[in-house]
Amino acid sequence: MALQYCSKHQRLFTVRQNQWIAFPSELITRIKELYQRFPLPEFEVIEARCDQCEESVPETSREQLDTPNHGE
Ligand SMILES: [Zn+2]
Repeated sequence: MALQYCSKHQRLFTVRQNQWIAFPSELITRIKELYQRFPLPEFEVIEARCDQCEESVPETSREQLDTPNHGE
């Protein structure tokens, strides 16, 4: 199973704990290097949206809702 990583917030999703944890980008770089040498699914890193990314979604929606109608 590929690793889900958010480079924006430097967070990694752990399937075992079913949660996002802080994960330094240097370690992800090392895992990516490993994957190039040993292309195993466990070492594959895919860019994903973390919990903090998801939290930012409602804010955007709220902004859109707060936008006043122009009445036209
Ligand atoms: Zn994120």
